[in-house]
Amino acid sequence: MKFWLKQFAQYPPDHPDYWRVQLIGYTLLITMSYFFILALINLLYFNSLEYTLLDSVGLCISFVIFYHFRKTGHVQIASWATTIMVSSLIMLFAISAKGQSYSLFWSTLVPLISFFLIGRKWGTLISCLTFAVCAFLVYQQTQDPEPVTIRTQALFNIIEVCIAQVLLIRFYEKTRFSGYKKLALRNLEIQKMAETDKLTGLYNRDKLDKVLEQLLTIKAVNNDVMPDSDSRDNKSPSIDKGVDDKNPTEPRLLKLISRFQSPISVVMIDIDHFKRINDNHGHLVGDKVLCELAHILQSQMRNDDLLVRWGGEEFVMVLLNTTLNDTIELTERLRQYVAKQNIQGLALTISLGVAQYNSQDSADSILERADKALYKAKSQGRNCVAVA
Ligand code: GH3
Ligand code: MG
Ligand code: MG
Repeated sequence: MKFWLKQFAQYPPDHPDYWRVQLIGYTLLITMSYFFILALINLLYFNSLEYTLLDSVGLCISFVIFYHFRKTGHVQIASWATTIMVSSLIMLFAISAKGQSYSLFWSTLVPLISFFLIGRKWGTLISCLTFAVCAFLVYQQTQDPEPVTIRTQALFNIIEVCIAQVLLIRFYEKTRFSGYKKLALRNLEIQKMAETDKLTGLYNRDKLDKVLEQLLTIKAVNNDVMPDSDSRDNKSPSIDKGVDDKNPTEPRLLKLISRFQSPISVVMIDIDHFKRINDNHGHLVGDKVLCELAHILQSQMRNDDLLVRWGGEEFVMVLLNTTLNDTIELTERLRQYVAKQNIQGLALTISLGVAQYNSQDSADSILERADKALYKAKSQGRNCVAVA
């Protein structure tokens, strides 16, 4: 198996097709060894050229499938090719054995391989077809006036076992598939929960750390040179805006960012005198204010921006492809817009601290500078924008 794993390193254990690839591997390695040994036995011991030829054909086909799969990595083609090869060779064997020597038993291998490789629907069809062909051949044997190797009673028993096998494997496949689906959905939910702020539904600080780390790593790798003017155009890269986005776009995001050598701005936003709202109207109203403000901020952002709840009554925005001047203009507009809103019957204001990425920045340092700028805005009397 080590050999097989080396050949298909592109299918690691957490890949959805990992086990399918492993089964293709097992099946092909086993069939190649079987056909090789059987060809020798049939040639040297039984002196049967017919069966030697059949085994050699099996050996060649197995090798061709293996080679093609190794070259292309195409799981679907390899799955179908392996299933069809196994079932047709078993049928060929049953035909050439004229149903004798209990050749029908071989057909019980087909569902074990086909269900796993090509799914329940096609697995049922291929298995039933193989069983039917083999059973018919053996039945013909029983009708022969010459002595038969299998009695009708035994044939019926085998048919019953085959049917039961198809039904049971079908059921096992169904439970395996539904278990896998549930697990995959649950993993997605857990991942979403881990990066979502429960109160506002925005992304949380963990997600911000992750995105900033990725962004800055790519920028460092690119040895970025910031263009100075072509600001917020439609072609700018896109960060997933919030948890409402049904398509988490991290790989897309990374691809896009690596294509654009764009300036990045980080904005830290803090509600002014929020404690008073809690004190005067209660924490529940405070919570509603946080949610409504989160919604307002998000509604004012373009799809490309990332908004997270940093903690408490503080939010952080990451703006891509946005120069410092544009960021100041945008945040000033945002500040004025929020000041005009009526949130839970209250008028509230926000202070904003802006930091622009420079080539020495790490995720921590850019956030620290945005925080310092926010502190400056607070000390300048609140309800304003300050730059680090
Ligand atoms: P400043 O203008 O200097 O920012 O004053 P402030 O009152 O907004 O800031 P301060 O840090 O003194 O108070 C922040 C308050 O935010 C205190 C805390 O109880 C409240 N807070 C933090 N998280 C939550 C939350 O999830 N829900 C509610 N209702 N209040 C929260
Ligand atoms: Mg605060
Ligand atoms: Mg505050």
